[in-house]
Amino acid sequence: MNRVFLKPGRESRVIAGHPWVFAGDVDRADPAAQPGEVVQVLSSGNRFLGQALYNPNSQIVLRVLTHTDEVIDDEFIRRRVRAAVNLRRQLGNFDCCRLIFSESDLLPAVIADRYGDVLTFQCLSLGMARFQDTIIQTLVEETGVKGVWERNNVPVRLLEGMELTSGLYWGEVPDVIPINENGLIINVDVKGGQKTGYYLDQRENRAAIEPYCKDARVLDVFTHTGSFALHACKFGAREVTGVDISELAVQSAQENARINGCRMAKFVAANAFDYLRDASDRGEKYDLIILDPPPFAKNKANVEGAARGHKEINLRAMKMLNDGGVLVSNSCSYNMTTDLFRATLISAALDARVTLQFLEWRSQGRDHPVLSTAPETQYLKCVIMRVLR
Ligand code: SAH
Repeated sequence: MNRVFLKPGRESRVIAGHPWVFAGDVDRADPAAQPGEVVQVLSSGNRFLGQALYNPNSQIVLRVLTHTDEVIDDEFIRRRVRAAVNLRRQLGNFDCCRLIFSESDLLPAVIADRYGDVLTFQCLSLGMARFQDTIIQTLVEETGVKGVWERNNVPVRLLEGMELTSGLYWGEVPDVIPINENGLIINVDVKGGQKTGYYLDQRENRAAIEPYCKDARVLDVFTHTGSFALHACKFGAREVTGVDISELAVQSAQENARINGCRMAKFVAANAFDYLRDASDRGEKYDLIILDPPPFAKNKANVEGAARGHKEINLRAMKMLNDGGVLVSNSCSYNMTTDLFRATLISAALDARVTLQFLEWRSQGRDHPVLSTAPETQYLKCVIMRVLR
C-alpha cells in the first residue's frame, strides 16, 4: 500500500481523531500513490497513524477512514453503511430521513437521504466515488427503496477533480414525492429541488415552534417549501406569510398549503432583505417570526459579511415583533460559530432597543449527528427567543 508522510508536528490532529488532513500538513507521498486510492498515513517519524483516502488535487488531501490496519474493501464500507442505517432505524422516521451524514457516519463526504421509496445520493470526494455502487446497493437492500436519484451536481466536486452529474441512477423516481413530516404532507422534488430536495435537518425545530403559534400572526422568511409556515398553521396560527426569493419554492409552498388545507397561509416571492425592510417601514407587527437563511458564510473569509447579513435580518425582525413575541433565528454556516451568532443577535437587539429572553439553543436533527472529533459536523444553530420591549 502506498504511503503518505505528514510534516513534523502535524500528526496531532490525526491522532486526536479529526478526519481531515490539509495540503499544508503533508510532507510527501510515495510517487506511485494515485488520486482516489486508500493510503497509509504516517508521521514524520514513520509512525503508523491510520488509513485514508488520498487526493492530492483537493485541499483536503487525506480523509481518514480508520486508525487501524484493518482491510479497507467493499465489506468494510458495507459495515459502515449498515451501522448508519441501523441508527436511523433506531431513531424512528426511518421512511424519511438522512441515512448517511458524511464524516459523522464515518463515510467521508457521502450524503444519502430517504424520501419514502426514493433515495437521493451525493458523493463529494474522489476516494469514496469508487465505493459509490457498493454504498447505494447496500442502502437499497437495507431500505427496500424503489429508485435512486444521483445529485452529484455540487460544485465542490470540481475541487476534488470530479465531474458534475445528476439524474436517475436506478429504478423509478417520480417527479414529486409526498412525505409526512410531523403530520403534514409535504411534496418533495428530488430532481429539481434545492439541496437533496428538502431540508430534513429542521424537522425537530419545526415541531419546536408549536407553543408559540396559537392565534399568532406569523412571518416565515426563507420559507422554501413552506415547511415552517405550514407547521405554524397546523399549530393554530391566525395568519401566516411565507417569503422566498425563488418563484419555484413559492409555488411548491403554495401547493403544499393547498394539500394541507392551510387557508390562512400566503406566500410571496421576494428578496427577504427588501421584504423585511418594507414590512418594518410599514409598521407591520408579528407574534412569531422565523428566519432560516441560506449559508451566508461558505468559508472563513465571508464570516464578517455573514454576521452583517444576520444582524440586518434579525434587527428588522426584532423591530416587528410584539412585546413577548418569539423569534426563531437560524444559521446553517459552520463558520458562523455559536458565539458569533449569539453576539450578532445581542447586537441586533441592542440596536432594536429590545431585550432577548433566550428559550432554546437547538441544532440539526438527530439523523445529522455531530462527531466529537469533527466540530464542522455541527453546523446548524436554531435559537428560539422572546423579544421584550
Ligand atoms: N426554511 C426552509 C429552508 C430554507 S433554505 C425549510 O425549513 O425547509 C433557504 C431558502 O432561502 C431557499 O429556499 C432560498 O431560495 C431562499 N433565499 C436565498 N436567498 C434569499 C433572499 N435573498 N431572499 C429570500 N429568500 C432567499
